Amino acid sequence: MTPAERSRPLVVRDALLVTQDARRAIVRGDLRVEGGRFTHVGASAPTDGADVVDGRRFAAVPGFVNAHTHVAMSVLRGLADDLELDGFLGRLFAVDAKRTERDVEAGARAGIAEMLLGGTTSFLDLYYFEDAVARAAESLGIRAFLGWAVLDADKTTQAGDPLDNARGFLDRWARHELVTPLVAPQGVYVCGRETWLRARELAEQAGTLCHFHLSETRKEVHDHEERTGRRPAVWLEEIGFFTGRSVAAHAVWLTGEEISILGRRAVGIAHCPSSNLKLASGGVAPLVELREAGAPLGLGTDSVASNNSVSMLREMHVAGLLQKHQRWDATVFPAQELLDLATIGGAQLLGRSAEVGSIEVGKRADFSLFRLDHPSLAPARPEAIVSHLAYSASEEAIDSVYVEGRPVVRARALVRGNASEIRAAGEAAAEALWPASPR
Ligand SMILES: [Zn+2]
Repeated sequence: MTPAERSRPLVVRDALLVTQDARRAIVRGDLRVEGGRFTHVGASAPTDGADVVDGRRFAAVPGFVNAHTHVAMSVLRGLADDLELDGFLGRLFAVDAKRTERDVEAGARAGIAEMLLGGTTSFLDLYYFEDAVARAAESLGIRAFLGWAVLDADKTTQAGDPLDNARGFLDRWARHELVTPLVAPQGVYVCGRETWLRARELAEQAGTLCHFHLSETRKEVHDHEERTGRRPAVWLEEIGFFTGRSVAAHAVWLTGEEISILGRRAVGIAHCPSSNLKLASGGVAPLVELREAGAPLGLGTDSVASNNSVSMLREMHVAGLLQKHQRWDATVFPAQELLDLATIGGAQLLGRSAEVGSIEVGKRADFSLFRLDHPSLAPARPEAIVSHLAYSASEEAIDSVYVEGRPVVRARALVRGNASEIRAAGEAAAEALWPASPR
């Protein structure tokens, strides 16, 4: 962002503030943003020199943190539905091999536009050609944590050694305002010991984290156990991988021993309930036990090939229903905890809770304004706003979205990109990638 874009302060007056602060306070009040950060949260913000937004019709909500996705796959929605994981991966890998940096950028732009319109202001991604995703994030104004996928050199479709590619990516995007590059070993089924350890070493050198898939299916766990004699999380602990900051996606099939390892090592868990349900992973991530063990929890949509949405509103709803149903306990994961997963929890899992995830003075001003007159938020009572966000809110209720205090969505339209161009480029990428007759 240029200094000029940042120079004018913003005040939102008299909105319902869903702060997600330590007390989870919900208050009527004002927000003032200067230099990309909240400088005032509460009654009577000074309006000098500021653009003032009348907030009376709105609830201000922290931007959502999507803790696991593959955003550039947005052009593959509907390509691999209703298949077992093996068939699903087979169909997607065949397309992966054809992808170009250009169509990854088109897919990333389309996916990021969709996320912004859904109130997501930060996301954690795992893919390759991440420079293209980084450019898309920068131009549309979303906060992006981008993991370059690494796997054993004999198992990749990437040109060159994935670890060298990851190193180049980390160098090119170091110290960027919105983009945080990181290293993403894909999973135990394509990464051997050396790849895991070199990925960790690279992440440590760059002062960043590792993001990976872990124990999504029973088959993957059993295959690994057959090869190594150890379950995946035990094996990763034994080889010395869990020495730095980590975020694991899925974490469905875990033993008590693995849960204690993940808790002790404070491995962040990106729970992806829709993807797990659609791909029939069979089990349910043991969120209660993971949290008790000390693992930070967040919520991810996974890609639209397996969800088929990047909606964090929908993901909160599904996460709540799944945990309650599976545990025979309607009190588990109440609405407040679901909203926590989608906001401050995601920030904690990324090690960024001092910066994002709540509306508090000093934090970066990433937030959305939800229309309180939308039917999905009725009755618009402050005591029910958290319930509405977790269980019923529609994305159509999101009027505006801000990242670093700068509008990225206004009146349900993208501010920084041309929606029809983005859509056309996405359709062209899909046209090039999809098989002539997919079924
Ligand atoms: Zn994934």
